[in-house]
Amino acid sequence: MKFKCCEYLLNEIVFSLSAVTPCCCSPNPAYEMKFLSNFNGKLFDVNKYIEQRNIYISQFKDNIIPKSCIGCNKVEEKDWNEEPKIKRIIITNSTKCSCNCIYCSLVNIGHQTKIELNTRKAYDIKPVLYDLYKKNLIEENCIITVGGGECAELPQGELDYIIYIASILKCRLEILSSGMFYSKTIENALTTQNCILKISTDSGNKKTFEKIKQVKTFDRTWKNLKNYIQKSKRNKNSQVVIKYIILPGINDNINEAKSFIKKCRSIGCRKIEIAIEYLYFEKIKNNSIPKSIKETLSILLSSNFDISFEGQVQEYVRNNIG
Ligand code: SF4
Ligand code: SF4
Repeated sequence: MKFKCCEYLLNEIVFSLSAVTPCCCSPNPAYEMKFLSNFNGKLFDVNKYIEQRNIYISQFKDNIIPKSCIGCNKVEEKDWNEEPKIKRIIITNSTKCSCNCIYCSLVNIGHQTKIELNTRKAYDIKPVLYDLYKKNLIEENCIITVGGGECAELPQGELDYIIYIASILKCRLEILSSGMFYSKTIENALTTQNCILKISTDSGNKKTFEKIKQVKTFDRTWKNLKNYIQKSKRNKNSQVVIKYIILPGINDNINEAKSFIKKCRSIGCRKIEIAIEYLYFEKIKNNSIPKSIKETLSILLSSNFDISFEGQVQEYVRNNIG
């Protein structure tokens, strides 16, 4: 039966700070879809998760689009396989991070101070993952994304366990890191697993980097990146991606984009990802493209790197630059 729905609702599960949700990409700031509320890491009755998932699916079938999904470009009409199989797991239960990016959504949207975020105790994801695995709910070859907080600052053994589960299920791992701490566990994932490591530097220029990150770790981060890239070359299934998040008035200019490309080249980087700071992107995405954004994008696109885009930026680039 054909109906409007989205693959995230059907096949993704997000472990966020205190809830289990279908996605983390709603266009609506007041996102209220939850498989489980007040989640604290306790093992849950899988039937409850499936029950709530089915309620949302029935709403879609009845053409009652949940408020959180209105306007979301992930909604499509097709014959969906409704079997409850998880194809993507996003783990963002921890908020501890020694970096201090000015665009960090944990601070900007979560409205918590950095001290609160760094001292907040996260629930243990290990038993939950094992339970889903044991109940055969995770599909082989699924994607596991570890966000944060900073995964190099997760409690001892947590990242190793996630990597272990990923290896027995032959999953693709996506590790998001600030890059300020070199992690042997991440190195191990890069050399032995199907793994993508993403680190945003947003600049190849020390002063600009420090303005964005609000920490003095420019040299250390690029040195760590160089090491990760060298290690990843031993494994054809792994890749290091350096992100450039365009911020208005800070790195949205030709010189910044050029210095980023130069720095990436100097450490042997092959792949970059382009993003636009999410609050700014919301303001500009339906209007004509600002000159500074167009120029910055054009320089980044003219590099001979393998380029990907975050979220709707790909569509935005296609519509505005071609
Ligand atoms: S339609 Fe969009 S907002 Fe709704 S669950 Fe899917 S991805 Fe999330
Ligand atoms: S690295 Fe991520 S979690 Fe840490 S401050 Fe930056 S955006 Fe926030």
